[in-house]
Amino acid sequence: MNLRSLTPIYILLVFLNFIGNSFGHSSVEVGFFVYDEDQSYIKTFTEQNLAIDHPNSAGYELYGPKGLEQYLKDLKLEYVPLDEGLDKNFGEYPYPEEIYSRLKILVDQNPDILQSFSIGKSSKNRELFVVKISDNVAIDEFEPEFKYIGNMHGNEIVGRDMLVLFIEDLVNRYRAGEKDVVNIINSTEIFIMPTMNPDGSATKSRGNDHWQDLNRNFPDFTTSDNVNTVKGREPETQAVMNWQKSRHFSLSANFHGGSKVVNYPWDTTGDPAPLTDLIRDLSLLYASTVPGFYDNPRFAQGVTNGFRWYHVDGGMQDWSYNWHNDLQVTIELSNNKWPSYSEIPNYYQDNKKALLSFLMKIHQGAGFYFKDPLMKGKVKILNAINKDMGAFVFEKGEFYKVLPSGKYTFNIEDQEGRNYKLFALVTDQITYPLIPNLQLIKK
Ligand SMILES: [Zn+2]
Repeated sequence: MNLRSLTPIYILLVFLNFIGNSFGHSSVEVGFFVYDEDQSYIKTFTEQNLAIDHPNSAGYELYGPKGLEQYLKDLKLEYVPLDEGLDKNFGEYPYPEEIYSRLKILVDQNPDILQSFSIGKSSKNRELFVVKISDNVAIDEFEPEFKYIGNMHGNEIVGRDMLVLFIEDLVNRYRAGEKDVVNIINSTEIFIMPTMNPDGSATKSRGNDHWQDLNRNFPDFTTSDNVNTVKGREPETQAVMNWQKSRHFSLSANFHGGSKVVNYPWDTTGDPAPLTDLIRDLSLLYASTVPGFYDNPRFAQGVTNGFRWYHVDGGMQDWSYNWHNDLQVTIELSNNKWPSYSEIPNYYQDNKKALLSFLMKIHQGAGFYFKDPLMKGKVKILNAINKDMGAFVFEKGEFYKVLPSGKYTFNIEDQEGRNYKLFALVTDQITYPLIPNLQLIKK
């Protein structure tokens, strides 16, 4: 049968034979590489909440519930099961608990700059472990807040173990007095979550213990799931959402595997995201120093807009940027999702410079704080030629935004209708000593 003769209605009927489609969730019990050169089925699969990943010129990865294979057979599509779903050889990789103990020892030895805590529990009751790195680490200082999240897809392991090495290396370089590292730790609140999906990493699975794809599980401003509430979402998603709400992150990245590229918002629509040029510059900064990124023949200069590559609804980066003013990119670290554990130090060496230079870019921005943590309200930012750079809300007395270099006016209105004006200079040259560009506003 000619594939193109299948009507969408027929396809939908076949699909509904084996699954009651659950809204806002992507079950990822099985995975296949589907040969579909002209990508004619991507739209249909996406609409059915099947998870597409890493399209290339031959086809793409497709994940879904049990029964997906029969569906592909019915559609007469060619496919092969993905090795990663079958090969449960873990190599030398530590379990999540071993990573936590290793980091807890480091935290205990460095209580002045490290703190660890859990933001919640996974579906299988594992801790969702975070390390905070900052001077005066026990105090919530008025400093820009940055985060890295690894291993959202459990079988994409490189980010998890690379972030452990990054934490250890930052501590060593701080102790050695390396200027960049000392200044960034002293002027920033850095949060690193090596694994957002410990259950998936412990079973080498893409999804969590409920077989759900966490990077399809966030609110999405282009779909009917467009309310920023945790209800009905996976425990790992809820934990990240609640954590984000409690902080003021303004720059972040999350790590994946399966390609070598920095993927920037939006994923969910072809419309340009606000400050796309800035986001692209930050992505290029990361990609420019990592072997295999900048010279990746598939992606010019090692970066791509997410939607242009493939459409994702419910992804974390779009949610983060849209609802929380936290500019986030998605970094694909390795062609092989589960390389030998002995290769992790090489991945770290390759990404070492980029990890720090991207983090330092959080200081290309400006913001303000009130001493009163109950202050909240609205802020409108204008650039030097009065161009509207966006309107935002602020909470808990603090606001910070990463911006292109230039001069800005912040028009602030608090919850009682009082107005304040703030003038800020943002420069793309990160100079030392690094003082956070956060100005105190007096009531
Ligand atoms: Zn992934």
